[in-house]
Amino acid sequence: MSKIEELLSSYEDFELAFVYTYLYKTYLPETRTTIDAIIKQRGLTQEKIISLVEEKMKQEYIKNETVVRCPRCKSEKIEGTQELIYYPSHNPSEGQTPKYMHYRCNVCGYDINNDKKTGKVLKTWLKNIFSSKKKKKK
Ligand SMILES: [Zn+2]
Repeated sequence: MSKIEELLSSYEDFELAFVYTYLYKTYLPETRTTIDAIIKQRGLTQEKIISLVEEKMKQEYIKNETVVRCPRCKSEKIEGTQELIYYPSHNPSEGQTPKYMHYRCNVCGYDINNDKKTGKVLKTWLKNIFSSKKKKKK
C-alpha cells in the first residue's frame, strides 16, 4: 500500500468526501486514481458525497475545547507547520527568531489561521495544553 493509500484509508467517509470536493484537483493523476478507487470501495456515490459535505458544513464546528476541528469539514486532521515571521519591530541583533504556527486542514485544505473564530479557539486550546503541562498537582 502506498503512503497516500494508507493515509486515505485512515480517513472517515466524510473526510474522503471533503478531499474529493476540495482537494481532488490539486492532486496528481496517480493520486486521483487512488482517491477514485477508495471512494468506489467505500460505496460513496456523488449524491452521498454531496450530502456528507452538506451535513458537516451545517454542524457546529466545536463542542469541546480540547479538540480542534476544522471549521469547514470538522475533521481533527489539522496540521501545523512552523513558519518564520518578522514583525516590523523585530531586532535581529537580539538573536530572537520569531516563530509562528500555521494551521491548515489536511482534509479540505482550509486555512485555519485566517478564520477569526477558530483562530481564537485555537489559541485558547494551545494555551490550555501548555498550562496543563506546567500545572502542579494540588
Ligand atoms: Zn477541513
